[in-house]
Amino acid sequence: MKKVLIIGAGGVSGVVVAKCAKLPNVFSEIVLASRTESKCIAIAEQVKQNYGVTIETAQIDADNVPELVELINKVEPFMVINVALPYQDLTIMDACLETGVHYLDTANYEPKDEAKFEYSWQWAYQDRFKDAGLMALLGSGFDPGATSVFTAYAAKHYFDEIHFLDIIDVNGGDHGYPFATNFNPEINIREVTAECKHWEDGKFIKTPAMSLSQSFTCPDNVGTYNIYRMYHEELESLTKNFPSLIKAQFWMSFGESYLKHLEVLGNVGMIGIEPVEFNGQQIIPIQFLKKLLPDPSTLGPRTKGEICIGCLVKGIKDGKKKSVFVYTVKDHQDCYKEVQSQAISYSTGVPCMVGAKMMIEGHWMKPGVWNLEELDPDLFIKDMDKYGMPVRVIEQDGWGDLEI
Ligand code: NDP
Repeated sequence: MKKVLIIGAGGVSGVVVAKCAKLPNVFSEIVLASRTESKCIAIAEQVKQNYGVTIETAQIDADNVPELVELINKVEPFMVINVALPYQDLTIMDACLETGVHYLDTANYEPKDEAKFEYSWQWAYQDRFKDAGLMALLGSGFDPGATSVFTAYAAKHYFDEIHFLDIIDVNGGDHGYPFATNFNPEINIREVTAECKHWEDGKFIKTPAMSLSQSFTCPDNVGTYNIYRMYHEELESLTKNFPSLIKAQFWMSFGESYLKHLEVLGNVGMIGIEPVEFNGQQIIPIQFLKKLLPDPSTLGPRTKGEICIGCLVKGIKDGKKKSVFVYTVKDHQDCYKEVQSQAISYSTGVPCMVGAKMMIEGHWMKPGVWNLEELDPDLFIKDMDKYGMPVRVIEQDGWGDLEI
């Protein structure tokens, strides 16, 4: 039983706090801190009403290490769960090192002034965390996170060697808005418009954003969707940790309306990250756009349909080719009924809580900085099932049937 400090009070945080509050035998006390304390209070009130659990709240600027150190020293948690933005990863890791507290996040570090995300900045903390006897678990959301564990699970139980990996993220849900993002709009748009990179024959190959798409039929009658190849951070760690991979790609579904709006917004300069002078004020276009768009945490009541996210792994077992699809299907409205959230925040929040639980219970406790596929997948998969994200596996002979 351990006390946790959760930083960030957006869509994902609402789910993480609810899921942790439901497990008082693991998360004995929860303190929720964020830039805007009123958002922490709103989450705390909802959790009190739903589960009768009291959560303390605090205001914090997580860009400021001395402020973070002061808060962590006051709260004295076992670990910090970072569900603020990727911009805050390094400052929170610094504060954890200074105060001797474990760390977990759901997305890798990005500098604010450069739309570039990679693990190098956080992997550079490996020795400092190891020497301090502290653990940092990186990317414990769905993708990265569950997809990292799904790949490790397939490699462990179904193959002698894995050769091809396609991570497929389909959101078959509809929120009824012409344009809205399912998680933080700034991070989402920076990710989707980034140059595509996929792994092939020992190196990353760059192609223009959204330049390759195809149709994918999800299992369990979720439907057929257009999926677009893009870069996603888990490709960097998975290709390092599974060097037998010959080709690794990430695919995400997008609707016509989303793509049309994104193209126009890009053409008129509304997704720029450089400041623009307007009426004597410096405005960053993408941050102004975020202000105009629906808040992802409010999409829950209106999003209908299912998500299907999984890893299609192809490799060799006992000298024969085989394919395995490890995946989860979740209904947006089921998530809303349970924790008043849409399925994207839900599917990030559940693996985030499970990752923290693995650390608190000691199953994954190991000093150093780790990606999820470096840890044993079995108990994590069991807990995903138990806490709302059932994991299914389709196993087939040969490489051709579940074609990507
Ligand atoms: P939101 O924008 O809804 O929430 C972010 C929260 O962080 C807000 O409460 C915000 O405060 C707070 N915050 C931002 N800057 C600071 C700061 N300097 N100090 C303190 N708090 C701050 O984002 P989401 O909930 O949608 O996403 C949260 C994280 O989850 C992101 O890192 C995102 O990339 C990641 N994610 C990971 C996924 C995965 O599968 N791995 C999928 C989806 C998201 P304020 O309210 O004042 O703006």
